[in-house]
Amino acid sequence: MPVAEIDPVNAYLDNASTTRIHPDVRRLVSDSIDLANPSSLHTPGRRARRALEDARARVAASLSVAPSRVVFTSGATEANNLAVLGLARAAKERGRRIVTTAIEHSAVLGPCAALEREGYRVTTVGCDSRGRVSPRAVVEALNSETVLVSVMLANNEVGSRQPVEKIATAARSRGILVHCDAAQACGKLPLAPCAAVVDAMTLSAHKMHGPRGVGVLVIPAGSRPEPLLFGGDQEQRMRPGTENVAAAMGCALALELAESELDTNSARMELLRGKLLDGLRDALPGISWNAEGEAEDRLPSILSLAIPGLAADAVVLNLDAAGVAVSSGSACHAASIEPSHVLRAMGLDDEVARGTIRMSVASDTTDAEIEHALRVIPDVIRRLRRLADG
Ligand code: PLP
Repeated sequence: MPVAEIDPVNAYLDNASTTRIHPDVRRLVSDSIDLANPSSLHTPGRRARRALEDARARVAASLSVAPSRVVFTSGATEANNLAVLGLARAAKERGRRIVTTAIEHSAVLGPCAALEREGYRVTTVGCDSRGRVSPRAVVEALNSETVLVSVMLANNEVGSRQPVEKIATAARSRGILVHCDAAQACGKLPLAPCAAVVDAMTLSAHKMHGPRGVGVLVIPAGSRPEPLLFGGDQEQRMRPGTENVAAAMGCALALELAESELDTNSARMELLRGKLLDGLRDALPGISWNAEGEAEDRLPSILSLAIPGLAADAVVLNLDAAGVAVSSGSACHAASIEPSHVLRAMGLDDEVARGTIRMSVASDTTDAEIEHALRVIPDVIRRLRRLADG
């Protein structure tokens, strides 16, 4: 029996973790789930191959890159691993230095740590109090041994946008490959301009109303990452294993919808996030918006709020009981009580970081969800504050 996990919630405000699947994408994926193995020579196999290559061509067209540069993966985590490990290892004869930033997702920082264990040197550039990395600091970290720079387009915890174009121009003029994790920007920022200035780019379908478990790595035009897996010819041998054709088709459609409706969707998200922020600020003195900055420096979707004196996990669980889904810091840290590395890099003290919740809207967030959240959140926080004050 199908179970809709997100729908019963009165206010789903955790879209940075995952978004509700678009109805057209859901239909396409479920209608395509039974396609054959695209490597088979028979008619059903050839039909699946055509569908897969059509999905690849559509992703490539949305990003204005050659279809041969589009590699389907199981999501952004795998795409980031393939980019960082695969591109660094492929370039090891030229140098063993990587430059990245302190606010990357763990799916970039994890592979960087693995490379360090292999003898690579990783330089991690910090950020300012609004979660912005300085292009100058990245450029200063480059040297003749650097083979790869990995910098995200927008941060998943606080929504700060990064100056990828400036960084990419400087690094590429020195012959250094640039990878950009654009997973969190999917559906919120235009992706083709980013694809035009970097060598490799990561996307994730479920951040833009596509299916979970499928993503894309755009690979450099002139160099290939070393594969992480072996044993098959699929995806030009860079990602062996029978392809998930239905998911690839859903990813392509989600990307097309996201790109074609970007302006309307972004404006709606900005409006909804603004309502949420204004309502909460009016009702709750003492809260603050982490990474508040100019509109062009942040995503329209994420609201990272510091609620001093409270533990974020308690807030998340109490809001959940009242039908409001949010997360504490980054969803990927939800099981741990360690303050997030991003909030720390921004200079927030541990106490503030531990009291930070992340709310995130999407273009399909309804006014009723925001109204419900504004009815519930102030009451829950006031109650928790009373309890904390004893
Ligand atoms: N990179 C960023 C910036 C993300 O926000 C996420 C998910 O939260 C990931 C990578 C991992 O994405 P996926 O769930 O597709 O593996």
